[in-house]
Amino acid sequence: MGVQPCPIFGLHQMRPGAKAIIWNSDGTVNLTNKYGLSYHSVCECGEKFICSGQPQYNPPSQIGWWVAGNLQPSGGMGGALTYRVPESSLKYTTDVRMEGYRFLI
Ligand SMILES: [Zn+2]
Repeated sequence: MGVQPCPIFGLHQMRPGAKAIIWNSDGTVNLTNKYGLSYHSVCECGEKFICSGQPQYNPPSQIGWWVAGNLQPSGGMGGALTYRVPESSLKYTTDVRMEGYRFLI
């Protein structure tokens, strides 16, 4: 399944979001720690892109582990948003760019 086009910009314009912690579906595994998912970005349309690399830098670093979509926070804890995603939805790439997304600082 490809990325859904951005309803506002066509190409999602991803900007760094609030600190986020990603958990697996039942909240038993901290995927942020396990996969180093330090980058959390948000488009105005609601699309989120979370990964272990730094694709917003110039030059960008490889994306590594990533998960994306119109993810809804399941809550907040200590000033960080929390998301729950199935661990199996994480993908891995050595690419520094992702089709359908533009990463902004
Ligand atoms: Zn968008």
